[in-house]
Amino acid sequence: MQIELIQGDITAQHVDAVVNAANHRLLGGGGVDGAIHRAGGPQILAECRELRRTRFPDGLPTGESVATTAGRLPARWVIHTVGPTYATTKDKTHLLQSCYRTSLAVADELGATSIAFPLVSSGIYRWPKDDAIRQALYVLRTADTAVHTATLVLYDEATLTLARRVSDERD
Ligand code: ADP
Repeated sequence: MQIELIQGDITAQHVDAVVNAANHRLLGGGGVDGAIHRAGGPQILAECRELRRTRFPDGLPTGESVATTAGRLPARWVIHTVGPTYATTKDKTHLLQSCYRTSLAVADELGATSIAFPLVSSGIYRWPKDDAIRQALYVLRTADTAVHTATLVLYDEATLTLARRVSDERD
């Protein structure tokens, strides 16, 4: 799989699937979540409500992922995942990595071959950005998936610079 690091807005990505850093409720929120619902329009929220009613009455668990269509976004699907909150999560590896793993598994189920990820948990959930990048890259580099392009979309230039540095740590 090819891994790309770019600076940008996840809602503008022309890929099969964009990943949403959602929350348990699946009913919208701030950060990436708010941006995706604003840009994608009400169809996404309607599908999220239906998912809550049918498959996830208690909310989507941390580390799991589920897809909706993407409304007005250029992507075909939104894959909603729930990142762990740094301060209250004891397990500092598996749950965050699971977001990337389960999103790729959903992409495979959909037949999506290009996917764009935000840096899950690194905003409102306050995960240190360098560690969030390291874990994202670890999963993307080792995943067994039919996805052929994964883009990690960093929101600002400083985070892109950091991502390039972390990426180069590899020996
Ligand atoms: P979480 O609640 O999982 O921490 P956030 O949406 O608050 O999720 O933030 C995750 C990361 O996405 C942060 O690094 C934030 O700066 C970045 N971000 C916020 N809006 C966008 C956007 N429109 N496109 C890409 N990245 C974004």
